[in-house]
Amino acid sequence: MLRLSFGPCRAADALLTVVFACCVAIGQPAEDSLISLLVVWPPEGVTVDGARVRVGGRTDPAARVMVNGQQMRVFPSGAFAGACPLEPGDNTIHFRATKGEQTATAERTVVRQRPFRSLPATPICFDPDCEGEPSEDLEVRAGDTLRICVKGSRGRKATFRIGSGETHYPLLPTSRDGVEGFYEGAYQVKPSDRLVQARVTCYLWSAKGKSEPAAQWRVPGRVTVNTNPFPDVARAKEDYVRLRAEPHHGAPILAAREGTHLQIVGAVGDSLRVALTPTLHGWVPRDLVRMVRGEPPLRRGCIRDLSVTEKNGATVVRIPLGLRVPFIVTEHPHSSAIELTMFGVENSLNWITDRTPRGMVEAIVNAPASDGACRLEISLRGGGLLGYRAYYDGAVLCLALRRPLSPPADSTRPLRGHTILLDPGHGGPSKGTLGSTGIEEKAINRDLCGILRRLLETRGATVRLTRPEDADVSLADRARQAEQDGDLFVSIHNNSIALTGDPLEARGVGVYYYHPHSRDVAQAIYRQMLRVEPRPEPYGVVTADLYIPREITAMPSVLLECLFLSNPEDEMLLMDKAFSERYMESVAAGIAEWFSAAARKPTATSE
Ligand SMILES: [Zn+2]
Repeated sequence: MLRLSFGPCRAADALLTVVFACCVAIGQPAEDSLISLLVVWPPEGVTVDGARVRVGGRTDPAARVMVNGQQMRVFPSGAFAGACPLEPGDNTIHFRATKGEQTATAERTVVRQRPFRSLPATPICFDPDCEGEPSEDLEVRAGDTLRICVKGSRGRKATFRIGSGETHYPLLPTSRDGVEGFYEGAYQVKPSDRLVQARVTCYLWSAKGKSEPAAQWRVPGRVTVNTNPFPDVARAKEDYVRLRAEPHHGAPILAAREGTHLQIVGAVGDSLRVALTPTLHGWVPRDLVRMVRGEPPLRRGCIRDLSVTEKNGATVVRIPLGLRVPFIVTEHPHSSAIELTMFGVENSLNWITDRTPRGMVEAIVNAPASDGACRLEISLRGGGLLGYRAYYDGAVLCLALRRPLSPPADSTRPLRGHTILLDPGHGGPSKGTLGSTGIEEKAINRDLCGILRRLLETRGATVRLTRPEDADVSLADRARQAEQDGDLFVSIHNNSIALTGDPLEARGVGVYYYHPHSRDVAQAIYRQMLRVEPRPEPYGVVTADLYIPREITAMPSVLLECLFLSNPEDEMLLMDKAFSERYMESVAAGIAEWFSAAARKPTATSE
């Protein structure tokens, strides 16, 4: 798992290089060597935004390894790992393994992005290391505001122009993280603006009042003004589409199922801006929707009545809307209530029919919401819920609430009668991360799932694997499997430090979940995993925006980052069959503990 921070004025391509760096091939041992030397980290030619890069590989366990003159610890597995400092620009990293008279060498090149520096007041110039903002093409409408940012010699007068317009608008000096020489400005799009892929040109001026600018710079993003008075219309191409609070990387705020009607009012690069209410927008990747021509632009769903029914043991709230609209389901912390907010609807709700007097729903309140939205507060009876499914049946939005578990018939075998979905992370061409020895995460994940499957079946559970073989199964297909049946979804992964991190520092177990109904099982498994010998470092229980925990809502869904494959000691544990057996035994114990405790809670029917 990599966490990236996005600095200003950086090229997206370089960052993507970092994101996908964990998938590159293993290096080759040097020729003419008698001992082996395999360099796995860093990948050749990678660009990083940081002062160091992770190094790692495998050699003879008795060898001595030097990386750019710095001695690396070699572990009994032959793995070595560490972090190597980088100079701005191109770096060559020399690896040398020696054992007696034998030597092996290898090299890697790494590019470190130059950190921003304050440029002196003269000569007057723009900083070529900062491409400026907007960095991507924009589609805007009248009233939208453009933000312009460039970097150059400090303390100068600066202006910008848009397209072939004559007017210069001011850019004001600012600093970022103590670095001087940034200039920022803004422009509000006017109804009369007719811009098509217009360039934004920025100027720096000398103090002597010359009529010619001293330097000019074009930012990469081009500006187009959409003069259509109505939104463009798009439909979501698949289920599990998320609208986010910001372009590309914002927090996930809303769900859109296949066919959902979306009103598009702008774009930043490949991210489209969706109007939800007059004041609320979300962003969706362009490739997840198809633009629709000829559909009335301001269509809305309409909610007049709803009903509560019972189906396949779940309580189902059915809301005819006439149109598939985006929505959000929010669970209260202890799953005592659940909120459903729909956007782009006319709220004329005045009729609620409950055909399940002993069902899970205690009451539904039509709560105040902003223009064009409808917010339902659904309070639940008894002990919360196992999970829920929010899906469309035609243009009827259905929220199926699943009852908490019933007490087990045989308390010594709490898993009996339950189905657990085990998800070995990655598969096929998706290898996951690589350990220092070159071992692939996907294979370890599959082996751990095999052990866990046997242990859970011994305890009486029915276990299904989301990928039985070494196959590439998409995350959406894994999530779809959880729509069928199952009482718990456990995804098995192993962690990796970022390319600019120190692999010797980050170790241990983390358990990830997203929805409140998954928290108890996440904590139960985590507690048990910390009881194994040798005890893993406690990385923590993390509420994280990860696909599997986020999109699987029908049951508790957790993702285990069992250990850090980037750490040679953790890697050795993962290669140790006896440890793997004990470790998965602890996961099985956590799962059993949660099933026992969950079934002891009062349920909707046992009140
Ligand atoms: Zn993984």
